[in-house]
Amino acid sequence: MSPAGASAPAVRILLVEDEESFIDALSVGLSREGFDVDVARDGAEGLAHFATRAPDLVLLDLMLPKVNGIDVCRAIRASSDVPIIVVSAKGEEVDAVLLLELGADDYVTKPYRLRELVARMRAVLRRREHAVPWGEDEPLRQGPFRLDIDAHRCFVGDREVKLRKKEFALLQLLLENPGRVLTRDVLIDRVWGSDYVGDTKTLDVHIKRLRALLEDDPKSPRYITTVRGVGYRFELSPA
Ligand code: CA
Repeated sequence: MSPAGASAPAVRILLVEDEESFIDALSVGLSREGFDVDVARDGAEGLAHFATRAPDLVLLDLMLPKVNGIDVCRAIRASSDVPIIVVSAKGEEVDAVLLLELGADDYVTKPYRLRELVARMRAVLRRREHAVPWGEDEPLRQGPFRLDIDAHRCFVGDREVKLRKKEFALLQLLLENPGRVLTRDVLIDRVWGSDYVGDTKTLDVHIKRLRALLEDDPKSPRYITTVRGVGYRFELSPA
């Protein structure tokens, strides 16, 4: 029986992982957090379980026997927008970028703390729950931030912050995807498109300026965080 009681059905997690030590630790840890954990030990089994058990969230290891994580992600995305969090070993960043472009929601590198993983899982689940279509004529709100898209105005609480065009577009994209890792390629493509020429530092310069304008401590950003080797993420973590 789930400790949460009979009223709310437990969130079902499909864990696709081939390392027994991780399987054991996660099965125990996530069950304790109230999740219902189903384990698949290779990619083929992962896809089979996905098809028959309709999980609420998939935790997907990258290096898997039979069908690798990239192909599992691609196959799931062909038919479903279930949240997928990739759990990758160190040094697999290139594959993780590809996975995010294929539609994975987030990315966690081993070794990680269970608390961090659970926080990411809850953020992704919350985002899906509240994924209401947002009309262009309404302000876009996330935490203390508000963007009036038509008027091209940005507010932090009651304070207005003046942003240049690309900064505004970059912040809009981040705010539209809270908790989601956006790869450098996605950010560059969506904000600059073919305007992005030459210097690969342009994105970082814009991020730096947004942080300077929006963060209490730009050197240790709370909202716009770096995902090393991958991209950036807008976070609204509980304080
Ligand atoms: Ca593995």
